[in-house]
Amino acid sequence: MSRAYNFSAGPATLPETVLQQAQAELLDWHGVGASIVELSHRGPEFLQVAQEAEADLRTLMSIPQDYAVLFLQGGATTQQALIALNFAAPGQTVDYAVTGHWGKTALKQVKPYVDAKVAANGEAGGFRDIPAYGQWQLSKDAAYVHYTANETIHGVEFRDIPDTGDVPLVGDFSSSIVSEPLDVSKFGILYAGAQKNLGPVGVSVVIVRRDLLERAGQPRAEILDYRAHVKGESMLNTPPTWNWYLAGLVFKWMIAQGGVSEFAQRNARKSALLYRTIDESGGFYRNEVAAGARSRMNVPFFLKDEALDKPFLKEAEAAGLISLKGHRALGGMRASIYNAMPEEGVQALADFMRDFQNRNG
Ligand code: PMP
Repeated sequence: MSRAYNFSAGPATLPETVLQQAQAELLDWHGVGASIVELSHRGPEFLQVAQEAEADLRTLMSIPQDYAVLFLQGGATTQQALIALNFAAPGQTVDYAVTGHWGKTALKQVKPYVDAKVAANGEAGGFRDIPAYGQWQLSKDAAYVHYTANETIHGVEFRDIPDTGDVPLVGDFSSSIVSEPLDVSKFGILYAGAQKNLGPVGVSVVIVRRDLLERAGQPRAEILDYRAHVKGESMLNTPPTWNWYLAGLVFKWMIAQGGVSEFAQRNARKSALLYRTIDESGGFYRNEVAAGARSRMNVPFFLKDEALDKPFLKEAEAAGLISLKGHRALGGMRASIYNAMPEEGVQALADFMRDFQNRNG
């Protein structure tokens, strides 16, 4: 069996050693005679897994004690809707910076509940840049300001944290969480689906400043209530134990590898190599995102001749480089290079791209 370098945007490649550990533990977890996913979520075994995962994530991200950490179902999209239900009153103003597809999605989820204002919008420019902060139109009385730290499809990433003064900042970090050090204290709420940098799809992480949990929000069922989830330690109902367990293994792997500062360096080298390969191709490959807003995690690129797309993908696959097809909204190619993508994988892609260009340029 040979594993390919997998550039999928999510679900995405996982560290091989994590998969091997999960495989080794699948039939018999730590000698209990059953898999961890066959045991009660309230038993001592899974409680240990859950508590270690939270503690390890707190260590990795240096999460302050006045922030709660939740492991929930429903994906990032559900959290997008719950944020309005939990933190804004019915019809209250909320501000959204829309810098790509996922910012638009976030806005769509809250429209039924609140008065959602677009504070900044990169759509007129094809989402190729982040609107300058000076042009953002922030409402003084907004319940929060929401932005998407990394746009997975458009390949646009904030390289700093927007300053929203006293209005809590909500960040969608689905595709860039734990990819570099981050000052969590700058945020009201930070959330991420797991399926890019944290583990398998099926669990989402929500990090919320505890004082915000006092907000009344909107009428909602208990299962949609973050305060109740905090009180119930993310176990109001049966949690996705397999996903939580695997994410926990990824956290331990990250810590053993040197933590977020080590991954920040690797990710900077990986993305620089890929952008250099594109920029030095004399127009054979192109990435259209403004230099200061280029994502370190998702690199969309186009070939100069669309007719070459199919052969590019086919030959890449034959070379062990898979899932490079771009999102249908943009076309072209996209290489997603999250923490678990080794530097050798990006080097192999860059070598393949140069070779393909030499043969087709
Ligand atoms: N936000 C971002 C930045 C994403 O990349 C995605 C998924 N690709 C989502 C939100 C939606 O996540 P989910 O499918 O887990 O709901």
